[in-house]
Amino acid sequence: MTAHIEAASPHVMNTYGRLPIAMSHGKGCRVWDVNGKAYLDGLGGIAVNTLGHAHPKLVKALQEQIGQMIHCSNYYHVPGQEKLAAKLVELTGMANVFFCSTGLEANEAALKLARKFGHDKGITRPEVVVFEGAFHGRSIATLSATANPKIHAGFGPLVEGFVRVPRNNIEALRKATEGNKNITAVFFEAIQGEGGIHPMTVDFMRELRVLCDDRDWLLMIDEVQCGIGRTGKWFAHQWAGIQPDVMPLAKGLGSGVPVGAVVTSAKAANIFQPGNHGTTFGGNPLAMRAGIETLRIMEEDGLLAHAAKVGTHLQTALVTQLMNVKGVKEVRGQGLMLGIELDRPCGVLLQRCADAGLLLSVTADSVIRLVPPLILSAAEADEIVAILVPQIKQFLSEAQA
Ligand SMILES: *Cc1c(COP(=O)(O)O)cnc(C)c1O
Repeated sequence: MTAHIEAASPHVMNTYGRLPIAMSHGKGCRVWDVNGKAYLDGLGGIAVNTLGHAHPKLVKALQEQIGQMIHCSNYYHVPGQEKLAAKLVELTGMANVFFCSTGLEANEAALKLARKFGHDKGITRPEVVVFEGAFHGRSIATLSATANPKIHAGFGPLVEGFVRVPRNNIEALRKATEGNKNITAVFFEAIQGEGGIHPMTVDFMRELRVLCDDRDWLLMIDEVQCGIGRTGKWFAHQWAGIQPDVMPLAKGLGSGVPVGAVVTSAKAANIFQPGNHGTTFGGNPLAMRAGIETLRIMEEDGLLAHAAKVGTHLQTALVTQLMNVKGVKEVRGQGLMLGIELDRPCGVLLQRCADAGLLLSVTADSVIRLVPPLILSAAEADEIVAILVPQIKQFLSEAQA
C-alpha cells in the first residue's frame, strides 16, 4: 500500500518547506522512501553522510559503542575526546579542540573566542570581519554573522560587532577595517555553502593569513560544510597551504551522528578557561566514537583521493554537458562540493529530480548543490549526470522566469 505523505506534518513545527516524501532507510549512496521508491543521494543529508548510509564498519563500531556507553558528562574525562582531538590536531597541525554537537554551536564558540581574545587584550567592544554570501548558522549570533537578509528577517535586533565585506577582495577588506582598533578576527567559509558554492581563492586566503598575523587578529575558518575531506583535502583551506587560528567543524565529522568541534591554534588554545564555555552533549562517548571511526575509515579507504577524483569526474561531465546550455551560468566548486548556477530561481528542481530518483538541494535560489557521500562511485556520478542534465535542460526550456 502506498502511504500518502502530506506536505506539512500536524505536530512537527513547519520550519522547512518539506517535500511530500518520507525516508525509510539507506545503503551506500542510495536511500529508499517509505513507499519503497529508491533515490540516488546527491545531498548526503547536506554534506553530513560522509560514509553514505549504513556503512558496515561504522555500524559495527557504533553498535558496540551504544552497548558500552552513549553519554556521561563533561564533569569527567571522556577518553574518546582525547583520541579524536589528537587526530584532529594531527590532521591540522593545530593545538587543541573544543567539542560540541552542531555547526552553529561550533561557530558560536568561535565568536566567543574572538570576543574574549579581544577582552583579554583590553578591547572591550570586539568586532569580527564577515563576508557577503556567508552562512554561519541560525542562533542569534551566528545568524547575525550570516549575510542573507531572509535569515535575519523577523529576528532583530541582530548581534552587533560585525563588519561585512565582499569575498576575495583584500583591498575592500583593508579599507573597511582601516583604523578600526576593535577588530579581533576574520571569519569565513573556505567555500561558502548555503551562499551558493562560492570558493575563497587561494591567494585571498593567503592574504588573509598575512593580514591577521600583521594585525594580531584571529583567522577563523568555518569548515562546517567544506571540511572533512569533501574537497579532496581534509580541510578546504589546506589548498592554500595556510593554517587558521580557529576552525569550526560539524556536518561530515560524525557521518550522521551529531558531532561538532572547534580546533584552535596555539594563539587561541588557551583563551577559554574553566567556566567560560560548555555544552551538555558536546564530546559524548557516542559522538566521539562516530568522529574517530569516520576519520579512520576515510583514511583506510582512501576517501580523500577518491573524493578529489570522483569530484573532478563529476564536475567535468557536468561542465561538458551543460557548457553550451543557455541559462546555465556556471558550474563551480571542488571535489564533491559542487554548484550549478542557473540564470533563474530553480527550487522546483528539488521535487522534479526527486521524482526522477535523485536527491539534491537548491541554495541561494538559483544554485543546484551537490554534496553527496564521499564514497560516491564514478558510475554513481555518471548516474547523477544522466538524471540531472535532462532535468536542467527541460526546466530551462520552459517559459523564461
Ligand atoms: C550548516 C552550516 C552551519 C550550521 O550548522 P548547523 O549544524 O546546522 O547548526 C554553519 N556553517 C556552515 C558553513 C554550514 O554549512
